[in-house]
Amino acid sequence: RTDPLTGCFNRAHLIEKLPLEIKKALRYGRPFSLIICDLDHFKIVNDTYGHQGGDQVLKDFIQCVRGEYRNDVDWVARYGGEEFIIALPETDVGGAFALAERIRKSVEKRKIVSGAHEFQITVSFGATGFNRDTPPEKVTVENLIREADRCLYQAKEQGRNRVVVCPL
Ligand code: GH3
Ligand code: MG
Ligand code: MG
Repeated sequence: RTDPLTGCFNRAHLIEKLPLEIKKALRYGRPFSLIICDLDHFKIVNDTYGHQGGDQVLKDFIQCVRGEYRNDVDWVARYGGEEFIIALPETDVGGAFALAERIRKSVEKRKIVSGAHEFQITVSFGATGFNRDTPPEKVTVENLIREADRCLYQAKEQGRNRVVVCPL
């Protein structure tokens, strides 16, 4: 259920809980959004500061997320190596954009300390979401992740350290 390195949820939790969140939001006509986060140039971080440095970055990133989101409703899971998904019940895409921007700024200014090294990193974000006006047949886990991933790709293309959002 938990990712041992960062303490956030793991992929198994994500795969089980995401469909339930979506079902609940659809049933009650509530908005729901999802953010995919991918650390920028993480290979270089690993190559420069070693895997310990890379691991420290992953832990610090989750601390930044925890410092900004609503601890009682929102949740975050490790989707892959340095990719995370944040689930935002009761949140429209505007709210998702605002949160991603806050996390982005928090990460950008954070000093990461690993052994004798001190350095900074950035993160790119892609976000999407639906509300009561979205055709329900469009609302699937696959479509949400695909759309958020497409936005993330644009954020990387546009130079990284940015947030791209598109409603489902
Ligand atoms: P981009 O800005 O395009 O995302 O560049 P990137 O270097 O982050 O690209 P990519 O996603 O291809 O690289 C991810 C790297 O993350 C590859 C792997 O070495 C590293 N990685 C994955 N999981 C872990 C982990 O648990 N710990 C550490 N230290 N590194 C990891
Ligand atoms: Mg990646
Ligand atoms: Mg990356």
